[in-house]
Amino acid sequence: MDKSMFKQFDVWFITGSQHLYGPDILAQVAADAKSIVDGLNASGRLAVNIVWKPTLKTTEEVNRQMREANAEDRCIGLVTWMHTFSPAKMWITGLSELSKPFCQLHTQFNRDIPWNSIDMDFMNLNQTAHGGREFGFIGSRLRLERKVVVGYWEDSGVQRRLDVWMRAAAAFADGRSLKVARFGDNMREVAVTEGDKVEARKVFGYAVHGYGLGDLTAFTDAVSNADIDTQVAEYEKLYVMGDGPGSDKGRERIRSAARLEIGMRRFLEEGGFKAFTTTFENLHGLAQLPGLACQRLMADGYGFGAEGDWKTAALVRAMKVMGAGLKGGTAFMEDYTYHLDPERPLVLGSHMLEICPSIATGPIRLETRPLGIGGKDDPARLIFESPAGDAINVSVMDMGNRFRFVLNEVEAVDPPADLPGLPVARVVWDPKPDLATAAASWIFAGGAHHAGYSQAVTREHIIDFASIAGVELLCIGEDTTVESIKNEIRWNEMYYHLARGL
Ligand code: MN
Repeated sequence: MDKSMFKQFDVWFITGSQHLYGPDILAQVAADAKSIVDGLNASGRLAVNIVWKPTLKTTEEVNRQMREANAEDRCIGLVTWMHTFSPAKMWITGLSELSKPFCQLHTQFNRDIPWNSIDMDFMNLNQTAHGGREFGFIGSRLRLERKVVVGYWEDSGVQRRLDVWMRAAAAFADGRSLKVARFGDNMREVAVTEGDKVEARKVFGYAVHGYGLGDLTAFTDAVSNADIDTQVAEYEKLYVMGDGPGSDKGRERIRSAARLEIGMRRFLEEGGFKAFTTTFENLHGLAQLPGLACQRLMADGYGFGAEGDWKTAALVRAMKVMGAGLKGGTAFMEDYTYHLDPERPLVLGSHMLEICPSIATGPIRLETRPLGIGGKDDPARLIFESPAGDAINVSVMDMGNRFRFVLNEVEAVDPPADLPGLPVARVVWDPKPDLATAAASWIFAGGAHHAGYSQAVTREHIIDFASIAGVELLCIGEDTTVESIKNEIRWNEMYYHLARGL
């Protein structure tokens, strides 16, 4: 998924001040804010275009601007900056009404203090250090979630943190109108893939639509042989044809997988869906479990969850948006099996079929192999390795009174051996701080066996996304101990119980 999806969005740059300083200073404030906006847009480091807005100096101006932001679909959030002091009572009603996320940029137009020339005029103009605190107070007084980025606006680290926040805001905006299609229901008696869809609509905004497999087969049956020829030719160009496709039966299975992919894609496009789930429990009318189709649709930016897991499908979509255009991919993932060597315990992450090739390195093989469960024909799947390096796993659960994200920072490693007999794509990782602590913490957090895995999206993206959505987040990383997580869970139980109210 490339960066072009961000073209539909803007972030508004809001400068706060007051009339006290007179027109000359206010003209300077506006000019400096425009320079910052132009500089940020020209940096090439920010995913979303920033739009300058006139300086706000009164309660009426703030109210009007916040209402305009709420009403403008293109606006996914505000960056607020106090060049001067801006008495914060004027922000109370407007910020209370604001329904878009905001990020306070605590920066200064000038990087350095001009030690030899500094005078009172300079002091009157450059007041972020205390003006930003007055604005911060009212955010805290109103108990508003927001991000605060501190530092010089031309600094690459500051711009990177702004970009992270914009991507999270874009993912949240995308989720407000997201439609998730479910082919089949939750599989059997699985608990963690269940959840409250009404609450999900309220918190994240996305809608979950259920379909019978017959709805999908109407689309797959309508696919022409010519379309299948084109699709298979594309497979042959992109992938190494491995075991299976060489035989007549194998070719037939690949064609059947191509039919599934084309039919599913048309179904999703026609319905405006950007995420979907499947289940291998009921595959009525389908020749094989969709593996290849799920993998290739995910690579095009669709969120996906197996076994009816709509929460993970929506999460994978959000992660796809946050990581758009960044190095590294994002995939649906499952902790599959362990390597419990005490020297370096590892996790092999995979799924029955549906790992996204956006995380692939090296050649990608297309094969048809027996599945062992589900009682259908041998499904086609892409088989590949994933690069070593830093990554995260993120999971989402419905805890009954709230949603919870749990995140684990991991280091993907090269597999210790070749795994020649494993017929699925896989990643091998070493969780932080170590497998024993990470897995116990994940289990105490109630973390699902399904996750979104990414080398593009970072802990900070998920922190920002959870903050914007107002959802609990537990992070497992280098500093985590099992006791620290257990305590955090206990405190969070109290906080979310009280914060939710009646
Ligand atoms: Mn699964």
